[in-house]
Amino acid sequence: MRKDIYDLIIVGAGSSGLMIADRLNDTNLKILLLEATKRIGTKLLMTGNGRCNVMSSDSPEELEKAIHNGRFLRSAYYKYDLKKFFKKHNLPLKQENRRLYPASEKAKDVVDCFKIHNISLKKNHKVEDLIFENEKLCGVVTNNGNFYGKNIVVCSGGKTYPKSGSDGSMHKILKNYGVKFTKIFPSEVALVFPDFVELSGLSIENVKMFNKKRSFSGSILFTHKGISGPVAISMGEFVAREEGVTFIDFLPDENEDLLFEKIWNDNNFLEQKFPKRFYQHIMKYFPKNNPSKKEIRKFIVNKIKRYELTNVRTLGLEYAFTTAGGVSLKEISPKNCQHKKIDNLYLTGELLDLHGEIGGYNLTVAWLTGMIVADAIKEKFGINE
Ligand SMILES: Cc1cc2nc3c(=O)[nH]c(=O)nc-3n(C[C@H](O)[C@H](O)[C@H](O)COP(=O)(O)OP(=O)(O)OC[C@H]3O[C@@H](n4cnc5c(N)ncnc54)[C@H](O)[C@@H]3O)c2cc1C
Repeated sequence: MRKDIYDLIIVGAGSSGLMIADRLNDTNLKILLLEATKRIGTKLLMTGNGRCNVMSSDSPEELEKAIHNGRFLRSAYYKYDLKKFFKKHNLPLKQENRRLYPASEKAKDVVDCFKIHNISLKKNHKVEDLIFENEKLCGVVTNNGNFYGKNIVVCSGGKTYPKSGSDGSMHKILKNYGVKFTKIFPSEVALVFPDFVELSGLSIENVKMFNKKRSFSGSILFTHKGISGPVAISMGEFVAREEGVTFIDFLPDENEDLLFEKIWNDNNFLEQKFPKRFYQHIMKYFPKNNPSKKEIRKFIVNKIKRYELTNVRTLGLEYAFTTAGGVSLKEISPKNCQHKKIDNLYLTGELLDLHGEIGGYNLTVAWLTGMIVADAIKEKFGINE
């Protein structure tokens, strides 16, 4: 007879794992939190450039649209009040546009706000396999021994920034036991594109990047490998998904015909519109020696309004902010985030086929899925609030 059987084993002390541990901290349940690395919340500490964009101010309807497969969490948007949660945890928030950050602007304060003192935490414990007995999931194998639990929740995150600990190791293990995944792509990732590398470090404030299905407006930043900045990063996933040709409109507020008139009538027009280095770069393509109207129109279309990013690609998964794709939601019950075929197995956060754009949506996914699982465990053990 085994002595040490935990009520719940949480695999991964990242955003969603910490949320579950916190929500169950004041129950009498015997809970083990296993973390592969030497610290907790490593990726959380990196979020929002160390400021942590904890959530957005979106309404439930807006959240559903902004999160890929957002319908899965429909009832959670209404059920859980994240602002209230952070208030209760003494983490005042401040809002910038639609994004909420800790008022201190320190991601560390987000990590520290979780109360997990009643939970057994074991750092440097990497899960290397699952244990099944009589076809029932009952434990995990780690690099530091085996642990047994009545329930197991895998909160191991996505596959990006593997040095944070979210290295995709659990993806492999889960696949070995038949858990189905959708195809994985880097999301929120910079573009690799050679044309502008000499402009590295320069940003342009108001551009529109588009393909036949979608567009993003805002700033871009040229890098030594290609293009970064909010607009390029938002488009990254769709470049990776090979959605079709990507274009940039460098003057989205100018109508093509009027732009032609302005350039035709004013030699200095473009110089005034763009930063000097970009103007010098783009003028290399301006037709020389008394250009015809047709040649100027061609320049406007090809180099200003519809600059085609031929052969553009993205940086790899390891440089993406988030992972698009993950455990197929067809296998998971939205009521409790439990796997439909493997009893007592729960899955959360970026491991699932749920992700959003920049703006706090990915942490929202982690917090809400964590809350769903914590409530499901309470219900299972008959714990009333
Ligand atoms: C640079 C950067 C900035 C970001 N900024 C924001 C932002 O401002 N706002 C936002 O909403 N989102 C942001 N994100 C995304 C967000 O951080 C993640 O989506 C979120 O942390 C995912 O939570 P999670 O609980 O699923 O996984 P994670 O927080 O990644 O945690 C997973 C944990 O599991 C552990 N683990 C993995 N495998 C094992 C194993 N085999 N055994 C034991 N432990 C294991 C890992 O070490 C890790 O601690 C950012 C991401 C990056 C990389």
